[in-house]
Amino acid sequence: MAKIGFIGVGNMGGPMLNNLVKAQHSVSAFDLSDAAKKAAEDAGATLAGSVAEAAKGVDAVVTMLPAGPHVRGVYMGDDGVIGSVDAGTLLIDCSTIDVDSARAAHAAAEAAGLDMLDAPVSGGVGGAEAGSLTFMCGGSDKAFERARPFLERMGKNIVHAGPAGNGQIAKICNNMMLGATMIATAEAFVLAEKLGLDHQTLWNIASTSSGNSWALSNYCPVPGPVPASPANRDYAAGFTAANMLKDLRLAQAAMASARSASPIGGQAAAVFALMEAAGMDDLDFSGIIKLIRGKG
Ligand code: NAD
Repeated sequence: MAKIGFIGVGNMGGPMLNNLVKAQHSVSAFDLSDAAKKAAEDAGATLAGSVAEAAKGVDAVVTMLPAGPHVRGVYMGDDGVIGSVDAGTLLIDCSTIDVDSARAAHAAAEAAGLDMLDAPVSGGVGGAEAGSLTFMCGGSDKAFERARPFLERMGKNIVHAGPAGNGQIAKICNNMMLGATMIATAEAFVLAEKLGLDHQTLWNIASTSSGNSWALSNYCPVPGPVPASPANRDYAAGFTAANMLKDLRLAQAAMASARSASPIGGQAAAVFALMEAAGMDDLDFSGIIKLIRGKG
């Protein structure tokens, strides 16, 4: 079994590490948070004292960090991953970050002769715990094939989306579709309420008609029709509105640098920013319906 350095063992990284340990890999963990480190140790990892210590003497480094600046710092900063690993170490960044930062980290890895994959995930904390995440991967065929056995321990659907940065592109495109679709779905339910059509009847009709979507059929924003959706537990996340806003903003930044138009994606970001302004962004993103209804 392999030796793995895991950096960033928070809400997502913690359970992902757990699945690598369960697969008999020997994992050395580093995080800035004492609580995250303690949970990693309890899960069976050994603790490293620094990024450099976690990255040295391992077959692969996996990172699960908040955003682009953290990834740039951890990979390319002083005593960072790229300057610390042994030759031949595989680098896998699972964070959701901006495409430019992902490509900068890839370029630095390539210059050092290292294989790297950007591999953001979908599936949330539940998917991380169950080992059923989807990984959207960007990088060379060789990096992808080397990473696959590790990713299969943490996920079910492992997709090679193309060269460096393409995993991040897939992630923001997917979440832009999801964010916009959830808003439209919530607007339809509120309109139906106001006009006197009940939730279940609308769901029965739309989920078998052209209005259907993943947001409606798997993650319905009103309680009742889909018992597992966060609406049934007063919008406890799930996938927070804060994370949705982060991903929509990443999509908007990418839109600007690609000179691509996204009037609806831009509106979706603006609507979720209202949820942030209302202090509701720790709710699940389907809680956007509360804002649309105009009642907290
Ligand atoms: P989190 O804040 O719980 O975990 C991030 C961890 O990184 C924290 O424990 C933090 O202390 C650590 N960290 C930050 N800077 C560090 C550094 N320099 N060195 C070492 N550790 C450092 O966040 P999370 O929910 O686990 O999300 C991680 C990534 O996964 C984000 O990019 C997020 O967008 C993405 N993501 C999250 C979800 C979700 O549902 N939570 C779903 C899909 C993708």
